[in-house]
Amino acid sequence: MKTTFPLNRFRNLKTPFYYYDLDRLKKILGTVSRISGTYGYPVHYALKANANDRILELIKMQGFGADCVSGYEIRKALSCGFSPSRIFFAGVGKADWEIRLGLESGIGCFNCESIQELQVINEMASSLKTNAPISIRINPNVDAKTHHYITTGIEENKFGINAWEWEEVARLIHSSENLIFKGLHFHIGSQITSMDVFKGLCNRVNEISEWFINQKLFPEILDMGGGLGIDYSIGSSADPDFETYFSLFHKHLRLQPGQQVHFEPGRALVAQSGSLISRVLFVKKGIKTNFAILDAGMTELIRPALYQAFHPIENLTSDGQPEPYDVVGPICESSDCFGKAVTLAETRRGDLIAIRHAGAYGETMSSSYNLREKVQTYYSDEIPENV
Ligand SMILES: *Cc1c(COP(=O)(O)O)cnc(C)c1O
Repeated sequence: MKTTFPLNRFRNLKTPFYYYDLDRLKKILGTVSRISGTYGYPVHYALKANANDRILELIKMQGFGADCVSGYEIRKALSCGFSPSRIFFAGVGKADWEIRLGLESGIGCFNCESIQELQVINEMASSLKTNAPISIRINPNVDAKTHHYITTGIEENKFGINAWEWEEVARLIHSSENLIFKGLHFHIGSQITSMDVFKGLCNRVNEISEWFINQKLFPEILDMGGGLGIDYSIGSSADPDFETYFSLFHKHLRLQPGQQVHFEPGRALVAQSGSLISRVLFVKKGIKTNFAILDAGMTELIRPALYQAFHPIENLTSDGQPEPYDVVGPICESSDCFGKAVTLAETRRGDLIAIRHAGAYGETMSSSYNLREKVQTYYSDEIPENV
């Protein structure tokens, strides 16, 4: 299912803007809900991928929980009506107010990433005369084989608790009166495209779960995190292979009675539903290729600048001969480039350009660098007739 654009309506809109195809989103949510449901796996959507109200509303209606990595995201999830018990809170650096918010609103689980964090949560829970449900975010030392900036599960990364601290963690949990041990959490990276990586993770999770059971800590929840990648290549419109993904965990995890497997996808749910629509400001001669200079930049979609990410780019309004262009933004940084030698139909000033699969980590990572202002967001069911 590929997004087609209401072009005649786009022509009148101020660019750049984000465009979300809600039918595409609903289809993916339905697929994930159906397949995860057959295994009884609860799904928590990672808000940081895209936190627009309308998108969150659809995700909540589908029955998913929320995976948050800040107090601001917890507030957002609560205000959107996610049930507190289905809000999980991860992150290496939780501020006191964020922990207090989580405790006072009764969230389902704190996914804890250091010994000191466990101590602080225990103290704060005690002073609020409550108990804190906690899972341990494990650093399993499994390489996600993705870009090093979005690899989170090898020992050198700041995320999770490494093996050499697990004994101390186990002792601490047993001696902390206000901590309720729920389980183990794993999130080893993002945009993971090799199913073998997830298989390797399952094998590690089996060993680690057993280790904790031997320490008399029974992990009811085995939270496998997110990370499932999407196909960013040109012309691609296929959904991620959710069948293979979920069945792999079913096949390779050795569950004890009473254990439940959770997931926290972000990108895989929302990436393909979003596009960044931009206008060409100028075309300028380069050495090998011409530059197509857009009115959108790294301020609206930082992924290419930040981790050399690739996005399919299309000229929506030209049917000229294909030519290579370096597609760049207006921001004063050389990394403000959406793609090099991108083949586009012959491009002129004023043409509309779509940068596809920008629904995840686009709008949520936008910034005001160069004092730019936040751009508009449009949904497929509410594009205005005349603007
Ligand atoms: C970012 C994040 C996710 C979602 O990652 P995706 O690659 O978007 O699926 C899930 N869990 C945690 C803890 C995260 O930080």
